[in-house]
Amino acid sequence: MTRQLHVAIVGGGMGGLAAAASLRHRGIRVSVYEQSAELREVGAGIFIYPNSLRQMERMGLGEALARVGAKVGSGSEYYRMDGSVVGKILTTDSSGWNGMYGMHRADILKTLADSLPASVIHTGHKCVDFAQHESGARVSFENGHVAHADVVIAADGINSVLQKYVVGPSAPEYAGFRAYRGLVAADKVPEWRREAHQVWMGDGKHFMVFPVRSGELLNYVGFVPTANQTIESWSAVGDRDELAASFAGWDPRVTCLLDKVESCFWWGLFDRRPLGKWVNGRLALLGDAAHPMLPHLGQGANQAIEDGTALAVILQACERGLSVQDALTRYEALRRPRTSMVQSEARKNGMRYDSQYADLAQRDKEIANSAQLRRSLYDYDIEKETLQFLNLDGVAA
Ligand code: FAD
Repeated sequence: MTRQLHVAIVGGGMGGLAAAASLRHRGIRVSVYEQSAELREVGAGIFIYPNSLRQMERMGLGEALARVGAKVGSGSEYYRMDGSVVGKILTTDSSGWNGMYGMHRADILKTLADSLPASVIHTGHKCVDFAQHESGARVSFENGHVAHADVVIAADGINSVLQKYVVGPSAPEYAGFRAYRGLVAADKVPEWRREAHQVWMGDGKHFMVFPVRSGELLNYVGFVPTANQTIESWSAVGDRDELAASFAGWDPRVTCLLDKVESCFWWGLFDRRPLGKWVNGRLALLGDAAHPMLPHLGQGANQAIEDGTALAVILQACERGLSVQDALTRYEALRRPRTSMVQSEARKNGMRYDSQYADLAQRDKEIANSAQLRRSLYDYDIEKETLQFLNLDGVAA
């Protein structure tokens, strides 16, 4: 009989909370430490795809997500900037399951937080230090609190403070783009296709719209090149006139929607090349702390949710005698190839969306073939893959 593991998660964003829910679902004790005084996400949307929804449904979150999500399906298309159709966007996995929602970020964060007992989440805890020894690990916080755990998960985002305890310092890379984003009430544009994910691809920039919050709101994002490194934040206030000017002369559906925009936020786009290492002893990186990616496949949070499932399935094997260090090494070995592939494909997709092609016919051909890539993302069942990957020979049954 082995002692119950205690996992400390630093960061109460989508990755940290989803990992906490996965670990608890498998009977593992968990504590989440978040620097902010309260859990919050500002007004913007995010896609939840079949690869992560499948896992959250297994954790019993299906109904709660269906209540606040907006189904994304019919009418989903890619266009050139003038509105001519380039192709359809795949919105199902290979079985035909339409497990795809547009979600307000605050709604998914709340759904994940509500699935955890309040005693698990410790807000107002900014992590400042980490140390480990043979039998445990210690995390220190700015408020003087010190937490002890068997495993520490760094889910503290793209500017992770814990990353330096795993790999040498490296700054996130600025992609040269600013994402203007915000929400418009759906009843302000009654003619809009309610369930559609629509992407307009222009010269060096692109624009997309999808529904969130049960279809009551439309989430838009305009990706515009800029030499200025806009801060990476969901809450920097953007200039709606600058946004409208960036897409002047595009398909009238885009310009009419932008006429309804009263305010917007912006976000500088950053990612990293795949890191050489995710794990050091009892400490493992997860989500954007491990693999920040450009948003051009909408997979950042989805991959973080996959990370959490993999981690929980592997750590559960510690009950059968697998050491914590061995478990985390297996987590890295399983997750790094997939997330590196998604990081690289997200960069390539951005070039397609921004028409960075000498021959647009070639770009359009690749877009038409992109269903294959989307299938490989959506069909992936991380729980099944992890169980197959775990080779427990030599571990006590
Ligand atoms: P974060 O969400 O950054 O959370 C990190 C948490 O750690 C924060 O709460 C922070 O306060 C906390 N923290 C940081 N430092 C400390 C510390 N020292 N101590 C304690 N707590 C700390 N992904 C998708 O899957 N689908 C999409 O459609 C999508 N759209 C996107 C659109 C845009 C424009 C952008 C820029 C990104 C998009 N993403 C999308 C990516 C997604 O937002 C991120 O991948 C995801 O939020 C990462 O989650 P995380 O929990 O790893 O990090």
